[in-house]
Amino acid sequence: MPRSQRSFKIRAALRGSLFRNAMRCVEMLAKRNPDRYPYCDRDTRKLKIMDITRFGRYETVTDGVGLIYSFANVGIIIGTRGVVLIDTSSATFSKQIWLTLRAQTSLPIEHIIFTHGHIDHVTGVQRFLDDAAEHGFPRPTIWGHEKMLARFDRYERMPGWITEVNRRQFGSNNVGKSIPASYVRPDYVFSDSIVIDFEGEPVELYHADAETDDAAWVWLPQRGVAYVGDLLLNSLPNTGNPNKVQRNTLGWAMALEAIAAKQPQHLMGGHFQPIAGDQCQEVLIETARALRYLHDAVVDRLNAGRWPEQILSEKLQLPEDLRSKPYLREVYGCCEFVVRDVLRQYAGWWTGHPAELFPLSRAEMGAEMVGLVGADRLRERIRELMTQQQCATALPLAVMLTDSPEVTAADRDLLATVLEKLSDSERSFIARNLFAQEAAAAKRSQSG
Ligand SMILES: [Zn+2]
Repeated sequence: MPRSQRSFKIRAALRGSLFRNAMRCVEMLAKRNPDRYPYCDRDTRKLKIMDITRFGRYETVTDGVGLIYSFANVGIIIGTRGVVLIDTSSATFSKQIWLTLRAQTSLPIEHIIFTHGHIDHVTGVQRFLDDAAEHGFPRPTIWGHEKMLARFDRYERMPGWITEVNRRQFGSNNVGKSIPASYVRPDYVFSDSIVIDFEGEPVELYHADAETDDAAWVWLPQRGVAYVGDLLLNSLPNTGNPNKVQRNTLGWAMALEAIAAKQPQHLMGGHFQPIAGDQCQEVLIETARALRYLHDAVVDRLNAGRWPEQILSEKLQLPEDLRSKPYLREVYGCCEFVVRDVLRQYAGWWTGHPAELFPLSRAEMGAEMVGLVGADRLRERIRELMTQQQCATALPLAVMLTDSPEVTAADRDLLATVLEKLSDSERSFIARNLFAQEAAAAKRSQSG
């Protein structure tokens, strides 16, 4: 074994064990205090969408194809003369991944494929470009969908907004630190599909307008392997993310159906453990069916003349047989968010509620309500509702109270308590974090 490869292996092993120990500590903390850790399942108290104790570990999926676990995972195809990487994870984790990769192989990285432009998949790329420069290898060729270019332009235009949205969604102030000022663009882009020749083996890339408009899934026809990026997530797909740009619920279902039509024997992706055998078809088909069910339910109702607010008030859920599937739990996305994604896609922003066309400001609403019933009666009613566990009903009243001129520090505390209770009862960690962030803001304004 060449010296450089041996030293890579030793460093990777050291880093790997240190990193895994650190991650075990994080998981223990997460079990104790699930609210602070987004990937903890509220029912089982386990980290479910991804298992962070695996980060930095290489797993062979089939001969010559593997995956390094991280946030996000990195897919690897090892040939006889070079390597293909699928995604690069984020800048935070790229060194760990690079060490694990170099413990596996010393071959040059020939191609890097981006499955989409989300920061957890692309911002680790520099580490692998540096690797080529350090070894005197040719620079890897980067491939991605053509819409990544506009996405990166937007990211570079809006770093402040992206930082804030992710801070709220993930409930962490650290997210902003991993948002770069600029992005490495693909060298080659494609529109519908493209085939990369890797040592005589076709590596097929297909476009999916789904979670993002720039998504690509990778198909290795000779091996029956599909790398699906974030098209599967071990949760009901997160279309309708509250403050992200439009996603495509129907496009997502169609992409999963297109992958299923290839009859893959192995599925790999950014945030789940590889799936093999018959389970591949089940997960693809049933996830597509869930998305189509919610999409079609909304479309049928719009066609029948129902307005978005009426559709939202129905609180649409998946049919019972889909609701019980472990890979469709509302851990990340949730049904109501998916419904909103479809509504926003087809029906614009107005829900049909007349008071929401030119809505009163929060201060006007608060002043009017308190003027009408009195602040004390409002406080009494909020407490009553909370005793009856009706926090969702208490919330708008508590908001109006704190937006009124008669607000006291105790009212803000009351609002924070309502929000914390709602956060506790949510299954989708995005909703949970958004409520928790608002609770913290209510407390902050109280102390300010
Ligand atoms: Zn991702």
